[in-house]
Amino acid sequence: MSDSSDLKSRPHVALLSSAGMGHLTPFIRLAASLTAHNVQVTFITPHPTVTLAESESLSHFFSTFTQITRKHFHLLPLDDPSANSEDPSYYHFEVIRRSSHLLRPILSPLSPPLSALITDMSLASTVIGITDALRLPNYILFTSSAKVSILFLYFHSIVSTKTTENGKKMTESSGILINTYESIEQESLAVLSNGQLLEKLPPVFAIGPLPPCNFEKSQPLAWLDDQPAKSVLYISFGGRTATSREQMRELGDGLGRSGNRFLWVVKDKKVYVEDDSELVEVLGHGLMERMKGRGLVVKNWFNQEEVLSHQAIGGFLSHCGWNSVNEAIWHGVPMLSWPQHGDQKINADLVERIGLGMWVESWGWGGDGVVVKGEEIAERVEELMGNELLRLRAASVREEARRAVGDGGSSHKTLTDLIETWKTFL
Ligand code: UDP
Ligand code: UDP
Repeated sequence: MSDSSDLKSRPHVALLSSAGMGHLTPFIRLAASLTAHNVQVTFITPHPTVTLAESESLSHFFSTFTQITRKHFHLLPLDDPSANSEDPSYYHFEVIRRSSHLLRPILSPLSPPLSALITDMSLASTVIGITDALRLPNYILFTSSAKVSILFLYFHSIVSTKTTENGKKMTESSGILINTYESIEQESLAVLSNGQLLEKLPPVFAIGPLPPCNFEKSQPLAWLDDQPAKSVLYISFGGRTATSREQMRELGDGLGRSGNRFLWVVKDKKVYVEDDSELVEVLGHGLMERMKGRGLVVKNWFNQEEVLSHQAIGGFLSHCGWNSVNEAIWHGVPMLSWPQHGDQKINADLVERIGLGMWVESWGWGGDGVVVKGEEIAERVEELMGNELLRLRAASVREEARRAVGDGGSSHKTLTDLIETWKTFL
C-alpha cells in the first residue's frame, strides 16, 4: 500500500509535549485515545524532562504502548541565568523555545508523512512558525478549561504583553483541542465558536475528559485496601505547589481534629522532606501521633489517578489543577477546592457549578499570606465527607463525563470527526 492510500485509512499524527506533569499527562492520554481510534502516533518528547516523575511515566508509557513511535527532542543546554525562573516548568519552556530549530529535522523525515502536529499550548508561539514553513497543520492542545482558553486567547487583544504570545499565536493554529466536554462548559464553548470573541479564531474541539490509561496503574495501595468504602479524604496540591510549613501544620491539625481517615501527599519544596524525621519536624510529634493509624502521609510522587479510582476514597482536597479536576470528575470524587495559583480559581468555580464540590472562597489563594486555621479546615472536611447529596451529584457528573467520551458522546464524535478531516489532508 502506498503512503498516501494508507493515510486515507490511518492518518499519522505527531504530538509534541512540553514541561511538567500537568502538561505531559493530557498528552499521554491523548496519545492513547488517538491510538485507540486507529491513528498512527509519533510522540516527540523534550529531553531531559523537568522531573523524574515525567521520565518514569514516559518510559512506562512507551513500554506499554509499543505501537507509538517515540522521538527524543534533545534540548540544548542553556547557560543563561536571565532565562531562569522560580518555576522549573517556565525555565524549561524557554529551553525548549531556544532549541526549537532542532524540531524541523525531526518532523521532516517522518514517514508516512504527517497529517498534523499537535503541540502543547506553552509552545504555540515557538512551533507554529516551523510547521507553517513545512505546510503542516498544527493543532494546539490546551491543557486547561475552555473558560481559561477564552482568557488566554483574548487577553493579548486588550493588553500587549510578551507572556501572552502563546495565546496570540494559538489564533493562527489549525485548531484548538481542549480537555473538556460540552455539558460542563457549554457556554464557554459557544463563545469560542460563535465568532463573538475574536474576528479570526480557529475551530475548537472539546475532546475530554481524556480518559486515564491503564498503564498508569502501578503501585500497591495496601493501606487504602484496608479502609472502608468512601471513608478516606485524599489531599494533594499537584506537582507544582509547595505548602508553607505554617499552613501544613494547620492542615495537619485540621485533619487530626476532623476524625476522618486521610491520605495526604505532602509537598514542601523549601524543606525537602526526605524522611520521617523531617516530617516530624514539620508537623510536630503530637500531631504525628494523633494521625497514626487513621492517616497516611506520603512525601514522594504518588500516582494520583490510581488513588482517586480506589473505592476507599470519599473526598479530595485539591488545588484544582485542571488535570486533577478531570480525574475527580472521571471517578466521581467530591472535591473541596483550595486554589493555589494560576487558573485554579476559575476551575474551582466550575467544580462548584457542576455540583462536584465545594469552594470556600475566603481561604483565598494558598500561600498569599493567609493561613487557614485547623479548626476551620476540620469543619469543612467534615462537611465534605458527610455530604450525601454531593456524593450523589458527583456520581452523576462521573456518568455524564463517561457518556461524553463513550460511543456517540459529544467528545467522542468531535474526535472522530477531526480524525476524518485528517484523512482528507493528503
Ligand atoms: N499527580 C500525581 N501524583 C502527585 C501529584 C500529581 O500523579 O503526587 C498528577 C495528577 O494526577 C495530575 C498531574 O499530576 O494528572 C498534575 O496536574 P494538575 O493539572 O492537576 O496540576 P499541576 O501539577 O499542573 O498544578
Ligand atoms: N506562561 C508563560 N510564561 C509565564 C507564565 C505563563 O509563557 O511566565 C504561559 C505558558 O504558556 C503556560 C500558560 O501561561 O503554559 C499557563 O500558565 P499557568 O501558570 O496557568 O500554567 P500551567 O499549570 O498550565 O503550566
